[in-house]
Amino acid sequence: MRQRILVIGGLAAGPAAASKAKRTNRDADVVLFEQGEHISSGICEVPYFIGRSITDAEKLSPLNPLNFERTRGVKVHVLHRVEEIHPVQKKATVRDLYHNKTLQFEYDKLILATGSQAKAIGLAGEEARNVFHVKSLADGFAMKHFIDEEKPKHAVIIGGGYVAMEMCEAFGMQGMETTLLHRDDLPMSRLETESRKIVLEELVKNSIRFQARRIIKAFKTDATGKVTDVVTDAGSVPADLVLLAIGVAPNVELAKSVRAQLGSFGGVLTDQHQITSVDSIYAAGDCCEVKNLVNNRWMYAPLATYAARQGWTAGEHAAGGSAVFKGGIRAIAVKVFGIEVASVGLSSTEAEASGFHPVMDYIVGDSKISFYPGSEKIHIISIADKKSGRLIGANVAGGSGSVLRANILGVAIQQKMTMDEVSKLDLIYAPPFSPLWDPILTAAHQLRKQTGSVK
Ligand SMILES: Cc1cc2nc3c(=O)[nH]c(=O)nc-3n(C[C@H](O)[C@H](O)[C@H](O)COP(=O)(O)OP(=O)(O)OC[C@H]3O[C@@H](n4cnc5c(N)ncnc54)[C@H](O)[C@@H]3O)c2cc1C
Repeated sequence: MRQRILVIGGLAAGPAAASKAKRTNRDADVVLFEQGEHISSGICEVPYFIGRSITDAEKLSPLNPLNFERTRGVKVHVLHRVEEIHPVQKKATVRDLYHNKTLQFEYDKLILATGSQAKAIGLAGEEARNVFHVKSLADGFAMKHFIDEEKPKHAVIIGGGYVAMEMCEAFGMQGMETTLLHRDDLPMSRLETESRKIVLEELVKNSIRFQARRIIKAFKTDATGKVTDVVTDAGSVPADLVLLAIGVAPNVELAKSVRAQLGSFGGVLTDQHQITSVDSIYAAGDCCEVKNLVNNRWMYAPLATYAARQGWTAGEHAAGGSAVFKGGIRAIAVKVFGIEVASVGLSSTEAEASGFHPVMDYIVGDSKISFYPGSEKIHIISIADKKSGRLIGANVAGGSGSVLRANILGVAIQQKMTMDEVSKLDLIYAPPFSPLWDPILTAAHQLRKQTGSVK
C-alpha cells in the first residue's frame, strides 16, 4: 500500500516537510492541510511590503495551492483545519472550513507544523479594527488595506523586539509618527547593552518616539470601536493604528491533545529526526523547541531558518530517509533604518546561566578601509568562555557588512573555535570590502587577551 503522510500547517515548516517527503518517496500520498487561504507565504517580507520596499503582493505568495500540487506532487487542502488526531487509529479529523463539514484522513506518518501564535495583551479593545498583529499574510494585507484607506497619522507599536524594529521603519516610510512603547529601558532585550544603545540611537535619529519602562493599562476606544489612545502607567498616547508585537508562543493545541512531550518554553520536544514522543508523529517549525548547539540546552527560537530545516528533516525521515537536524546557535539579524544589527550565539546573560564564565569585549572597526567612499563603522561585542577560550556569542551592529561578519562569527561559534583560532582566520583584505585587519580579527585579538587562549 502507498505510504500516507499528513502534514498540518502550510506556511514554512509544513510545505518544506511535504515537498521533501514527496521527493524522498515518490510513491507516497502526501497531503498538506492549511486552515488559512495561503500556503508557503512570505511573512518575513511583510514589514517591507507595509513599508513599500516590496510592492508586488503576488511575490509574497509565489506558490498557490494548485501550483504547489502540480510542481511538488503534494495534495493541498487550504481552508481545512485539523481538529483532532487519533494516534491509536492513526486518523485525523479535519474540518473543511469552506463547506463546514468534517472529513477523516488516515495516516502512516503525521507531521505537526502548526507554528506559533501572536501573543495577546489581554486588554479590552485589543480586537478593535485598528489594532494589528503581523503574524500572517492576512494580517499584513489587512494592515496595508487599513493604511491605504484610512491614512493613519499616528502609529503606536507595543513591543521592542526585531519585528517591532522592522515595523518602526515600515511605518516611518509611510510617513506615520510612530511611538514605541517598551517594557525595558532599551529596545531589543536579547542584545547586549551597547548594541541596544546603538539601536535606540538609530530609532531616535529616525524620529521614533521611544518610551521606556511602560506598562500598558488600557485601550481607549471611540464610538466606532476604534482605539484612539493607548493608556500606559505614565500617560496616554494617541493612536490611529496600534501594532502588538509582543512575541509569539508555540501553537501546541494538537500536540497537547495527543500528549506529545513539551519543553519548558511550551514547545514540542523532538529527537534529531523531529520525531515527537508520540508514535509516528513528527513536529517541525515554530511549534517546536530547538536544541541550542552552544550550551546544549533547549531554546525557543521561532525562526524561518529552523522551520525550513526541521521541516525538511521531518519530511525526509517520515518518508523513509535518514535526515538529522541537530539544532542551531540562534543567528538573527534585523535592519533598523540605516543600520544592520545581528546577534549570534548566546547573550552574556544566557552564557552565565548556562554555566560558562563569560568575558566580553567591545570594539569599533571600519567596514572598508576608513577613507574608502562608503566606509562605515562596525561595532562588535564578542563573548567568550574564559575557561575554554571558546567564542560563544556576538553582536554586530553598524554599517553595511555587519550581518556578513556576524555570519562568520556564527560559523566560528558553531565550530566551537577559540578566540585564538578566530584571531588567526584568513579573512580577505581589499579596500572596498574590508580593512587590512577586519573588525572580526580586531575583536578576536582583543578578547583573547581575557581568555586562557592566548598563545
Ligand atoms: C513579521 C515577521 C518577520 C519575520 N522575519 C524573519 C526573518 O527575517 N528570519 C527568520 O528566520 N524568521 C523570521 N520570522 C519568523 C518566521 O516567519 C517563522 O519562524 C516561520 O514562519 C515559522 O514557520 P512555521 O511553518 O513553523 O509556523 P507558522 O508560520 O506559524 O505557520 C503555521 C501554519 O499552520 C497553520 N495551522 C496551525 N494549526 C493548524 C491546524 N490545526 N490545521 C491547519 N492548519 C493549521 C497556520 O494557519 C499557519 O499558516 C518572522 C516572523 C514574522 C511574524
